[in-house]
Amino acid sequence: MDQGEINALRAQPVAPRGHLINGEICPSQTGEVAEVLSPIDGRVLTTTAAGTAEDAARAIAAARAAFEGGRWSRMPPAGRKKVMLRWADLIEAQALELAVLGVRDNGTEIAMAIKADVGSAVNTIRYYAEAIDKVYGQVAPTASDILGLVHHEPVGVVAAIVPWNFPLMIGTWKLGPALAAGNSVVLKPAETASLSLLRIAELALEAGLPPGVLNVVTGAGRVVGEALSMSMDVDVMVFTGSGGVGRRLLENASRSNMKRCYLELGGKSPNIVFADAPDLSKAAKVSAAGIFRNSGQVCVAGSRLLVQRSIHDEFVAELAKHAGAMKVGDPLDVATDAGAINNLTQLEQNLRFVELARSEGAQLFQGGQRILEDTGGYYMEPTVLTGVKPGDSVAQQEVFGPVLAVTPFEDETDAIAIANSTDYGLAAGVWTADLSRAHRMVRAVRAGVVHVNTYGGPDITVPLGGVKQSGNGHDKSLHALEKFHDLKTAWIQL
Ligand code: NAD
Repeated sequence: MDQGEINALRAQPVAPRGHLINGEICPSQTGEVAEVLSPIDGRVLTTTAAGTAEDAARAIAAARAAFEGGRWSRMPPAGRKKVMLRWADLIEAQALELAVLGVRDNGTEIAMAIKADVGSAVNTIRYYAEAIDKVYGQVAPTASDILGLVHHEPVGVVAAIVPWNFPLMIGTWKLGPALAAGNSVVLKPAETASLSLLRIAELALEAGLPPGVLNVVTGAGRVVGEALSMSMDVDVMVFTGSGGVGRRLLENASRSNMKRCYLELGGKSPNIVFADAPDLSKAAKVSAAGIFRNSGQVCVAGSRLLVQRSIHDEFVAELAKHAGAMKVGDPLDVATDAGAINNLTQLEQNLRFVELARSEGAQLFQGGQRILEDTGGYYMEPTVLTGVKPGDSVAQQEVFGPVLAVTPFEDETDAIAIANSTDYGLAAGVWTADLSRAHRMVRAVRAGVVHVNTYGGPDITVPLGGVKQSGNGHDKSLHALEKFHDLKTAWIQL
């Protein structure tokens, strides 16, 4: 990463952006725009089209027409693969520009944006491009005078609604498999992280994706997202975001056309450290990064630290040392470890959680304050709360910020009971040198992913999906294709 190049890119003005519908950049039907505030300094960065329900309907119609037209949906998989590989190459060629644009919009530290956002997007698109001409149908084991075939067919029109943390990574977790399978998509980015997604959608056109196959409509969730989820012509809804909105989407699916609805929601992930962990110092360092990178705005963040009582004080002190040494600030400074909070509402919510935790009896061990307020940006110290009881609000509810809730435990049984005591089940971590215990914990903790002696980093080859109220369905891996394929049976009398 070259700081000079980054500085040159950040100095460039960002032109106002429209929707991308049917291959055309266009304003909202009312002509209204929404200001985009940069979390780096709280200033207006640019504007996006303030989408309306009519804009969403126009995009859905374009997606449907493209699907029925068949230029993409009936293109041989090897052809789709070529276009998608070109798309990934174009994104990779502009990786730094895209990363800087995304950071100015959403506040993630630049190193993370390059690797986890743009880098993951490139890998994800390549992964599904490479996979799609290797997915076979099936021949059923029928009687000899019958031929039973199972075909994979694209489902039709997919609506994808994504959040503001890692827009490209999470966006392409939806777009990669949906497009590879031959569907058309209407994508709604978060209000506070649209810019890099709009840009890669333009690059898709340049790579040869036919107009109308990928449409992007920006705007408020309660307007554009609501219209997508109530549409009678969307076949599949894929969503990453909060539980409250997920609930609303399920409700809207049932009130409209019963579209399939796949939800990737929040977490309150337990990171469990046993006294016999092989390297406690590494465990402390990785656990600090596991909650404080991207200022805690990571769905799988290890936001509950469960520490065996015999090592509690020593371990918390070591972790807090790493947290205190993290450089929080300008996300476009290459030396920054944790960037900005995405928006002021989220920052205020983080601070409220700290106060609530203290009022319920937790101790503020470290951090807890807004910092760098004079920049106009939204920054918060890595915060460690100790003495958190399993039933406290900060142990039960997702903060989605740099706030770690620490709870001691006695033994394995106790750890499992506390770990499973929330409505969430997205991720977990276990630190132990005992192989049998590690396997027992993987089975006993209810979560979509359990890390052992590490935290974070599973790549595209493995699924990510929650249990309990962390969601249904899976992003990533070949399993993700299942959401975007219908199975059709042919039953043929010979
Ligand atoms: P959010 O639910 O507020 O918003 C997500 C998206 O939904 C945005 O595009 C928003 O505009 C849209 N939306 C809002 N109201 C809507 C409505 N009524 N109808 C339709 N769409 C609507 O979430 P956020 O604050 O952007 O993101 C943070 C949340 O996302 C956290 O809960 C986090 O855990 C979760 N998340 C989960 C994963 C995962 O893989 N499970 C990954 C990243 C983030």
